[in-house]
Amino acid sequence: MAKSSWADGLTGGGAVRPKPIDQLPLIPTIRPSAQPPIVLDERLRGTRFVALTPKRVLNPPSATGMDYWSLNPYVGCEFGCSYCYARYTHRYVVERAHDAGKLTDAEFADYRGAHGWEAFEKRIFVKEHVVGALEADLKRVPLGECIVIGTATDPYQPAERRFRVTRAVLQRLTRCEGLSFGIITKSPLIARDCDLLLRLQERNELQIHISLITHDAALARKLEARSPVPAARLRALGKLVDAGVNAGLIIAPVLPGITDDVAQLDVLFAAAQRAGARFLHAGPLRLYPAIRDRFLPVLGEHFPDLVPKYSRAYAGHGYAPRDYAKALSRRIEKLRKKHGFKNQSAMFDRYRPAKMPVQGELELRGSLP
Ligand code: SF4
Repeated sequence: MAKSSWADGLTGGGAVRPKPIDQLPLIPTIRPSAQPPIVLDERLRGTRFVALTPKRVLNPPSATGMDYWSLNPYVGCEFGCSYCYARYTHRYVVERAHDAGKLTDAEFADYRGAHGWEAFEKRIFVKEHVVGALEADLKRVPLGECIVIGTATDPYQPAERRFRVTRAVLQRLTRCEGLSFGIITKSPLIARDCDLLLRLQERNELQIHISLITHDAALARKLEARSPVPAARLRALGKLVDAGVNAGLIIAPVLPGITDDVAQLDVLFAAAQRAGARFLHAGPLRLYPAIRDRFLPVLGEHFPDLVPKYSRAYAGHGYAPRDYAKALSRRIEKLRKKHGFKNQSAMFDRYRPAKMPVQGELELRGSLP
């Protein structure tokens, strides 16, 4: 794949510097929204799905600092991984809608959540009419460029079963040629779209990354609130590969002191090999401020001894300490050789953010002034 290392920037959870939060408004806003957001569905446990009509759906490299284009069919993700770096994207959408007068203060409080991170998991924005927006956006993408789906949300989270936004996107993309595509997901639902993935890779390059940080289902549940069990993800990987789709495993983030021991990684490598993974990427945790609010309490609950170590190791920066990253890289390379995976330099980031990724093009449908 011409740009096979796009996943380098994703291993470890992406590099982002979140916008400051909890800023007090200078002048309190008390206003009814012109039209309330359109709620598409609501689940018993309180997850609400809200329509969003984006003007654009492809984020260009210049907006994200990544060297590929990105597309996220949803904002927010029900899987709710404690280490997820993408929560800031949800916060941006909600804050911008509030600043623009499209959400009342009460709606803002609901769509933001008590701590600023819960809403990412329970107020899911569903991008509607994406194909029209994509049609226009694709004209801006030069031949040979790479588009990654799922950099800030899981494109096959439970919402996709009903809303099928990702499938609509893929249907349009199958008409492209000469591009590179990557998809990252934790969900076996991706196997539903095998037909489209096969068509997509006929005239384009394609990498499907099944994301899995541990083979241990109990451990995964502690760290990822509602993600599919590891065995289901590995079965999906096997199905894709058996069908002829170029699919592999992404182990990211590797969590220091939790999932980085040789025995656990070896089990994952062996499982990937058995499933027929064509490639394997791995990278260490990046602990940016946007992640800390959610991750550190989970760490404290399940691994209290590690809290001071993480605090020291990640003090003042989000990257894993260089020596740790190098040691982990050596460990991964040994396991790659052992299990017959090709060497790939996924451990060291090419990702240097130029700017915060923007979601400014999004509009809350039905609440425009
Ligand atoms: S599946 Fe991905 S986008 Fe969703 S919560 Fe987990 S890390 Fe974040």
